[in-house]
Amino acid sequence: MPKIIHKGIPGSFKKYRLHLKIDDEEKNLVSRRTVIKGVLLYQTFQVIVTCLLFKVTGNHSGDVDVGPKPSLIVLARQYVIAALVLDTWLYFGHRIMHQNKFLYKHIHAQHHRVIVNYPFAANYHHFLEGFTQDTIGGILAIRLSGMSPRASIFFFSFAVIKAVDDHCGSWLPFHILFGNNTVFHSVHHQLYGSKYNFSTIFFVHWDKILGTYMPYSLEKRAGGGFEAHALEDNKNE
Ligand SMILES: [Zn+2]
Ligand SMILES: [Zn+2]
Repeated sequence: MPKIIHKGIPGSFKKYRLHLKIDDEEKNLVSRRTVIKGVLLYQTFQVIVTCLLFKVTGNHSGDVDVGPKPSLIVLARQYVIAALVLDTWLYFGHRIMHQNKFLYKHIHAQHHRVIVNYPFAANYHHFLEGFTQDTIGGILAIRLSGMSPRASIFFFSFAVIKAVDDHCGSWLPFHILFGNNTVFHSVHHQLYGSKYNFSTIFFVHWDKILGTYMPYSLEKRAGGGFEAHALEDNKNE
């Protein structure tokens, strides 16, 4: 029976702790210290790339044309389009990185060194994954939705918070609002889950349409917290 470790979880939050089949942080293939260093390195890279992109494509006149303020309906439509575009890009990119052994070994495996999740592991990935998935996906979402830079600040802030929340390793009451939530993504991080639940951030429709959705159940655990089970055990092999 593996020892359950609650590193870093304050007492009042332990009742929300999510337990999975492999629920022992000793199973993680990388230390928290290495993850922090990796995240800081990736974020530094992302800031440099963003500055370079602004330098090449930005408006150097100093004038900022914010245009007319969009109505709430227009804004809602832009957010839905951006979420669908980003989710589609992330689903197929993520799935390809699992199916192609070279891409998995040299790029995506880094993110999967964390099997039992904690919040700041969300951004622990190879810089090429961050660039091809987050940066290019983000540019496409902005361009195709037509949202303003100001609107994109709120959209991407929410997307980043959601990604961190999906790795939080706890089942909080509001998670029931999202099909794509911390249990859904935690199942993907288990060893048997790497063929399922590729959807990232907002929706789960691509997994459902293409047969890669792994359903799960959630029960209250006697010792506190919640226990998640994949419902299709035949998929565990
Ligand atoms: Zn993840
Ligand atoms: Zn993955």
